[in-house]
Amino acid sequence: MQDCIFCKIVNKEIPAEVVYENETVLVFKDIHPAAPVHLLLIPKKHIPTFFDMEEEDIKLLGDIQMAAAEVGKKLGLQKGFRLISNCNQDAGQLVFHIHYHLMAGRPLHWPPG
Ligand code: C5P
Repeated sequence: MQDCIFCKIVNKEIPAEVVYENETVLVFKDIHPAAPVHLLLIPKKHIPTFFDMEEEDIKLLGDIQMAAAEVGKKLGLQKGFRLISNCNQDAGQLVFHIHYHLMAGRPLHWPPG
C-alpha cells in the first residue's frame, strides 16, 4: 500500500533495523523502544487491522507467532517475552498495518494500559 510506512519498510524504501525475515513476515526494532527488547512483527501483506482480515490471512497469524519463537530463541529470551497488538483507536493503534509488539528484557507489568 503506497502510503503505509510499514509497507515502505517491507519494500526497503525506508530503513529499519531488521532482525528476522522470511517469506511472509518481517521483524524489526521499534524506533521508540519501551523495553530493552522492543520489536515489531508484521505480515509483509498490507492488512490495516484485524477487522480487515480474510480467511486466507489465517496462516499469517501463525507465521508471526512462529517468527516470535524463532526470534525469542535467536535473542536468548527464554526468561520470557510479551507479544501484544493494538487494534484501532481505543487500543492506541498508530500504524494501520497489523503488527505485534514483542517486548522483553525486563519484568513486564500486567495488565497493560
Ligand atoms: O501499536 P501502535 O500502532 O501504536 O505502534 C506503532 C509502533 O510503530 C510505535 O511503537 C512506533 O514507535 C513504531 N514505529 C517504528 N518505525 C516507524 C514508525 C513507527 O518502529 N518508522
